[in-house]
Amino acid sequence: MTLCIGVIGTGMIGRDHTRRIQNVIAGAEVTALSDVNRDSARAVQADLAPTAEIFDDGRALIASDLVGAILVCSWGGTHEEYVLAAIEASKPVFCEKPLATTAEGARRIVEAEAKHGTRLVQVGFMRRYDAGYRMLKRAIEEETGAPLMVHAAHRNPAVPEQYVTPMAIHDTLIHEIDVLRWLLDDDYVSAQVVFPRRSPHAHAALADPQIVLLETAKGVRIDVEVFVNCRYGYDIQCEVVGEEGLARLPDPMSVAVRRNAQARNPVLTDWKDRFVESYDIELADFVAAAKCGTASGPSAWDGYVAAVTSDACVKAQETGAVEPIELPTRPALYD
Ligand code: NAP
Repeated sequence: MTLCIGVIGTGMIGRDHTRRIQNVIAGAEVTALSDVNRDSARAVQADLAPTAEIFDDGRALIASDLVGAILVCSWGGTHEEYVLAAIEASKPVFCEKPLATTAEGARRIVEAEAKHGTRLVQVGFMRRYDAGYRMLKRAIEEETGAPLMVHAAHRNPAVPEQYVTPMAIHDTLIHEIDVLRWLLDDDYVSAQVVFPRRSPHAHAALADPQIVLLETAKGVRIDVEVFVNCRYGYDIQCEVVGEEGLARLPDPMSVAVRRNAQARNPVLTDWKDRFVESYDIELADFVAAAKCGTASGPSAWDGYVAAVTSDACVKAQETGAVEPIELPTRPALYD
């Protein structure tokens, strides 16, 4: 059986995911496209999905018999409405991060899915599918003993003018928030943000770099450096220190060159290159579960926890204080 997929939002990531469904992943086909920018949907149709129908309205796409599952790849502010509509239609839905732009919005999705009774939502936290993070998780389970500390860094070479201080949390740290919680099998209880001397490459509305300090329920202390004008490359680092040893996320594979009395390893510059295979695997996982009428991988609850944690981190940016992170009881659906 071929899974018929409707894609809402045909910008950068919507186009890329359409390419994956059409050219990389077996067993699924894009049969419908929708974008407020109809020209963008038409261009994706012409380039990648010539038989797909174009819908002016995302909700009409979700309701259509042409579609058995949905990818929500539009602007973040629209995600909640489309995910709730997909749950109402009992159709599996892959939602790019963020699940919703507010914790209350993400909570409404959790409540709707819990009421539905089976999982339908997968959130686009693709790092959980990265081979390096998976090896790191295995090393934590089998080698390091119980984790005590995590030292992590998320560095981008540069960001556009419109990237401002809270976006270091909502757009950048959000990936560490999810993947570290998954790695440690733990929940956060507090957050603090401290600011080193500002990089001269950061514009006036951006405090860069930042160091986010998280504490977990099991007492693990985490420091994440977010530095989005580091200049030298796109660099993701993660080191877990445990009771018996230490494990470190491997760098992406690259050819080491020795020349002119120097040994060099290239560093990536584009985040899309760093996680390209993870996106393929996360969507294959979505397709496999959607064919069975359900969803797996990062859940609506994970999206909600990320939203609550992000809000606490942004508050901590503003107050300079240690901000508590409190969660309600997790619905049994997510056990
Ligand atoms: P983008 O290039 O701006 O594309 C978003 C598209 O959605 C645009 O064509 C936009 O049209 C359209 N749109 C806006 N409102 C809509 C609506 N109500 N219904 C249908 N389409 C609508 O953005 P992007 O970079 O692809 O990002 C899209 C989402 O994916 C964001 O939430 C982003 O955070 C997420 N993302 C996740 C990752 C990841 O690593 N997991 C990476 C990249 C992006 P207009 O341009 O006319 O507004």
